[in-house]
Order: sequence, then C-alpha cells, then structure tokens
Amino acid sequence: TPPEKENPLIPKIRTNGNIKFDNVTFFYDGTEKPALKGITLDIHAGSTVALVGTSGGGKSTIINLITRFYDPTEGKVILDGIDLREYQLHWLRKNISLVLQEGFLFWGTIRENIRYGRLDASDSEVEKAAELAYAKDFIDTLPHGLDTPLGERGISLSGGQKQRIAIARAILKNAPILILDEATSALDNESEVKIQKAMEQLSADRTTIVIAHRLTTIRKADKIVVMKEGTIAEFGNHNELMEKQGEYYRLHNAHELGI
Ligand code: ADP
Ligand code: MG
Repeated sequence: TPPEKENPLIPKIRTNGNIKFDNVTFFYDGTEKPALKGITLDIHAGSTVALVGTSGGGKSTIINLITRFYDPTEGKVILDGIDLREYQLHWLRKNISLVLQEGFLFWGTIRENIRYGRLDASDSEVEKAAELAYAKDFIDTLPHGLDTPLGERGISLSGGQKQRIAIARAILKNAPILILDEATSALDNESEVKIQKAMEQLSADRTTIVIAHRLTTIRKADKIVVMKEGTIAEFGNHNELMEKQGEYYRLHNAHELGI
C-alpha cells in the first residue's frame, strides 16, 4: 500500500462509484514488462463490469489499482472525477467491499466472521445478512449455528460455504463499490446456484467489478472487459462481443470462459 497524502480528501458522503482509468500503465517493482499498458476504461456508477481473459492478462492488477494496493506508474485512476490518490485511504476502503476467492476467514465464530463487515452490526443484522447470502440453510445445520467456531478447534467449511460467509460479510458492509473474485474451484450445483443468487443480491445497485469465471456472471454483466497482455483486447456486452467474432468469441468457443 502506497503512503497517504498529507491532507487527504475525506468526503462526507459515500462515493457514487464512478471509476475511470485514464491511460494507466503499471509496472510491478523490478519488472521490465508492464502489467498494464495504457488502459483507458470507464466504469459507470451502479454497473456490473466483468473482467475476463487468460491468466496474466492484468485482471488482478486492475483490482489492485482500484483498491490502491498499488498506484499507477503512469496515468490516473479517477473516482467521482478525482484522482484516487487524493482520497484518504481509510475512506476509500470503507467504500469498497472485497469478496476474494474463498474469502479470508479467521479463527472465530461464523457470527464474528460475518460481523467483521461492520463491527457495530446487531445480531439480527448479522442473521439477515447470512440469510440474504444463502448461508442460513447450512449454518442452521451446524451444532451451534452462527456461534459455531471455525478453524483449528472448530469446523472447516467447503469452498462454497466460505464464499457465502464472505458474501454475507459484504452484504453487512453495504459499500457502494463491490469487487468480486469468483471462485474457480468446482462447486456442487446447489452451491453454485445459491452463490450466483447471493452475488446478484449483493451487486444490485452498486458498482460491481468481478473477475468472472462463470458464464452466467459474464453473460449478465453490463460490460465485459477482455484483458490480454496488459491491454484491453475487447470491450462490450456478451451479445456485442459474440457478434464481433474476435477474442471473446474465440475464448467462448474454446470453453476458456466459464467452467
Ligand atoms: P491476471 O489476474 O489476469 O491473471 P495479473 O494482473 O495477476 O493477471 O498479472 C498481470 C501481469 O503482472 C502478469 O505478467 C504477472 O506475471 C505480473 N504480476 C502480477 N503480480 C505481480 C507481482 N506481485 N510482482 C510482479 N509481477 C506480477
Ligand atoms: Mg488474477
């Protein structure tokens, strides 16, 4: 994480979630090949954007710049018209929910893991979030329900269950920007459908950027960004990109999108 500005901007309101990349080039330290090359991208407030493309294309790097784990080497990432570097980091992070593959759960109870999304949430808010994340059904089968401990002295959850806990946490946080890294691990059909529904629930009315591995997610996205070798190879929705018969079409037909 880069250092904070001396007098950072702390808006009194939440972000609208309008994100722009303005000619962004990025090199990881000590590398000679840019991870991103001259990226210009407009993500409209409230829309869902799916990042796709083969490994090493730059999808995670896009996320790393939006969350300010790194700053661009050249160019700007702009939020609501202002360079991301102007904002207080704490304010920025409050405005973003991150749901990464299999979440990061810690050794506490399920309730504590969900409440981590917003520490002052009431028990009933935690329960509601678990329900909206389609996690209630499996939690109810556990010996101590929400108070079941995870980790060494507790139980271990499946990948799909972990992801639903992470989604419940994000629902509780209720941030205007949502970043999802979809699990690539194969899930049973029931978990798959539930996770899909939970994600839809979560992404409604917020700017959502998803590293998408599932065709259902990709098809429903407002815009698809096809990343290739640090550049945007194609941009459009599913139908537009299929009609174009370019890179997306090729990945789609080679079953390299979705699993
Ligand atoms: P994707 O998420 O699409 O697989 P990444 O954004 O992770 O792609 O990677 C883009 C490029 O940056 C790749 O060439 C990758 O090897 C490189 N890269 C990613 N992370 C690092 C890092 N921490 N240090 C150096 N190079 C990295
Ligand atoms: Mg990645």
